[in-house]
Amino acid sequence: MIDNIINEIEKLKEEKNAIILAHNYQPKEIQEIADFVGDSLELCIKASQVDDADIIVFCGVNFMAETAAIISPEKKVLLPDNRANCQMADMVSLEELKQKKSENPDSPVVLYVNSRAETKSEADIVCTSANAGKVVSSLDGDNFIFAPDYNLGTYSAKLSDKNALIVPEDGHCYVHTMFKVEDIEKAREDHPNAKIVVHPECNDDVRQLADYVESTGGMVRLAKDPSIKELVVGTEIDLATRLKRENPDKEFYPLRRDAFCLTMKLITLEKVFECLKEEKYEVTVDEPIASKARVAIQRMLDLS
Ligand code: SF4
Repeated sequence: MIDNIINEIEKLKEEKNAIILAHNYQPKEIQEIADFVGDSLELCIKASQVDDADIIVFCGVNFMAETAAIISPEKKVLLPDNRANCQMADMVSLEELKQKKSENPDSPVVLYVNSRAETKSEADIVCTSANAGKVVSSLDGDNFIFAPDYNLGTYSAKLSDKNALIVPEDGHCYVHTMFKVEDIEKAREDHPNAKIVVHPECNDDVRQLADYVESTGGMVRLAKDPSIKELVVGTEIDLATRLKRENPDKEFYPLRRDAFCLTMKLITLEKVFECLKEEKYEVTVDEPIASKARVAIQRMLDLS
């Protein structure tokens, strides 16, 4: 049954000249059928380079598909389930961001890629968790406006030695803020020989106790390091799935087994099949918004 559906997906992909991009948090079976699996930055770069496909099926959440639609406007971008959203991306409104800008007119605006297209259109530059420090360091001045993740905002301020004006003050990812100091302490006891890596969206007290702070792309590279034999992974649970698939002789332990991003798991093989067959759900961004957001995304890509 699973083999049948995978064959059908492969056939449709060829017929329609489609490519499947999947985020590192996608379930194992989706990672396995994808043409490319990566973090937000890698997927953004990939979407900007897909010259020979007509359709991009984006297995992830809506802001990722929107970003692909903005940077590849000539492609049809499809999201297999139109309810796959990111709670954090909706935590900052356009009005709040404009208010912060009017209060701090000299501060450049950095939008985390985990945000909606209309707020990105108000940004000077976009960043991901892989390049936030580098992006913020490239800006003039001591202050910068950052939205919508409080933890990534404070982390990039620390890396760049600048002051973050974060909006909203409670923007967060419910998955990464699940991790607590006690989880790190327990992991040290349970796996004394393992290193611990956590994501920059985690709270500062957790980040401080970890051995490394990395984006998921950084975690993929870290796992390949010959000095790493066992790794405790403080991010969404399916990243450990990818790490094990690519490094079968090493051990990976999720920092918490309940760290699921529920909307990432809405994508299934059946929905990918339907999506290709019916060409639904198409994600589009109005050109006046897209053209402004494209400038902010391109600035980030030029730094990468
Ligand atoms: S893990 Fe958090 S930040 Fe990432 S898509 Fe899910 S809710 Fe959004």
